[in-house]
Amino acid sequence: APVILSSEMHGINPALISRNAVRVTETLQQAGFRAFIVGGAVRDLLLGIAPKDFDVATDATPEEVQRLFRRARLIGRRFQIVHVQFGQEIIEVSTFRALVDPPAAEAAPARRLRRDELDRRTHAVDASGRVLRDNVWGEQHEDATRRDFTINAMYYDPATETVLDYHDGIADIRARMLRMIGDPTTRYREDPVRMLRVVRFAAKLGFEIDDATRAPIKPLADLIHNVPAARLFDEMLKLLLSGHALACLKQLRKEGLHHGLLPLLDVVLEQPHGESFITLSLNNTDARVRAGKPVSPGFLFATLLWHDVQQRAQAFESNGEYPVPALHRAMDDVIETQTGKLAIHKRFAADMREIWGLQSRLEKRSGRSALKLIEHQRFRAGYDFLLLRCESGELDPAIGHWWTAFIEGDAAAREALLAEGG
Ligand code: ATP
Ligand code: MG
Repeated sequence: APVILSSEMHGINPALISRNAVRVTETLQQAGFRAFIVGGAVRDLLLGIAPKDFDVATDATPEEVQRLFRRARLIGRRFQIVHVQFGQEIIEVSTFRALVDPPAAEAAPARRLRRDELDRRTHAVDASGRVLRDNVWGEQHEDATRRDFTINAMYYDPATETVLDYHDGIADIRARMLRMIGDPTTRYREDPVRMLRVVRFAAKLGFEIDDATRAPIKPLADLIHNVPAARLFDEMLKLLLSGHALACLKQLRKEGLHHGLLPLLDVVLEQPHGESFITLSLNNTDARVRAGKPVSPGFLFATLLWHDVQQRAQAFESNGEYPVPALHRAMDDVIETQTGKLAIHKRFAADMREIWGLQSRLEKRSGRSALKLIEHQRFRAGYDFLLLRCESGELDPAIGHWWTAFIEGDAAAREALLAEGG
C-alpha cells in the first residue's frame, strides 16, 4: 500500500498545476475511473518547479479515455497512450500498466488481465531483455513499480490534494537522490534508455545517483546500441534541450556513456574543452532554454557538427576540389552519416544545410548580395551562427560587427557599409 501524503506534508503549490490536467482527472473521476497526475510533473511540483508538461495515469483503457474527450487521439504502438488536446497543451493519459515477468510474458496465462484485454495481451521482449511492447493493463501499484526512478513514481490527486507514494520517492526527493525502482541491472536491460534518463535527471535536477543505480551503467553501456535510432534521437533532443545540456554531456562522459553512443556525441565530446565553439553554443542554448526562449534544433545540430563539416571540406580541398563544392560535399557526408545513425529529422537537416551554406556568403559581405542575403529566410540563424564563430575566435570579429551594424543601420548607414565592405 502506498504512503499517502496530505497537502501539509507534501506542500505542493496548486497554482503550479495545469488547469487542463485537473480537468482531465476530474472528467475521468466523474466517469467513475481513478485518475492522477503522475511522474515528472509530481516530482517537479514537489521540488517547487513548474512542470513543463503533465501526464495523467488512470485505470480507464485508452478507448475509454478517448470516448470522454472531444479532442483525444490514440497514439503509440510500443506504448499505447491517449493525447488529450486543449489548445496548445497536450495532456498525456496512460492506462495503469501491469508488471509482467519479461521471459514468461508471451506464454503466461492471463493472470491479471481484464477480459476485454485478452486480445491485446501484448508484451514482448528481445534477446537482451529489452521490452518491445508494453500494453498489458494492471493495478496502480504495478504501474508504480514499472516506472523508472522512485521520484518519478508518485501520483497526485488534485481532488483530494494528496500524493500517493509507493516507493518512498518523497524521501529521495528530500535526499536529492536518483534511485532505480527494482533491480537496476534488470531495469536497464529492459530499457537501456533509462541509462540516459538517469544522467539527464542528475544533471538537470542536481541530484546524486544512488550507488546501486550507478554501478551497472558502465558495464551495460553498450546496450544503448540496441535502442532504435529514432528513440535515441528523441532522448538526445530532450537532453540537449533540457537547459542543462553541457552538464548532461559532462555527466555522460563521466558515466562512460559517451563512447560510441552516437556519432554526434562522439564528435561533440572529443572537442577540446574551454571556450570551444561547441561549449559556447551549448551555453547559449542552455541560457535560452532557461529563459524560456525558443531553441531551434537545426541550429543546435548545425553548431555541434560544424567542425566535422569543416574538417571534411578541408580534406576535399586538399584533394584539389574548389571550396564551394568541397563544402557541399562535406555537408552531404555529415548529414548522411548523422541521419543514418541518429535519425536527424529531414526538416532539421534542411535547416543545417542552409545555415552552413550561408556562412561563406556572410563572410564575403560584398556589394548588393548583402541586401539580398538579409531577406533570406534563414538569415537570422545564419547570422547568429556567424556571431558564435566570431566569439569562439574562429572568425575575425570585425565580420560580425559589420553585419550587426548593417542590420541595425538605416539606408544611408547600409550604403556606407556596402561601400566599405565591397
Ligand atoms: P521530463 O518530462 O521532465 O523529462 P518525466 O519524468 O516527466 O521528465 P517523461 O519521459 O515525460 O519523463 O515520462 C513520464 C513518466 O513516465 C516518468 O516520470 C516515469 O514515471 C515514466 N517513464 C518514462 N520513461 C520511462 C522509462 N523509460 N522507464 C520507466 N518509466 C518511464
Ligand atoms: Mg514529462
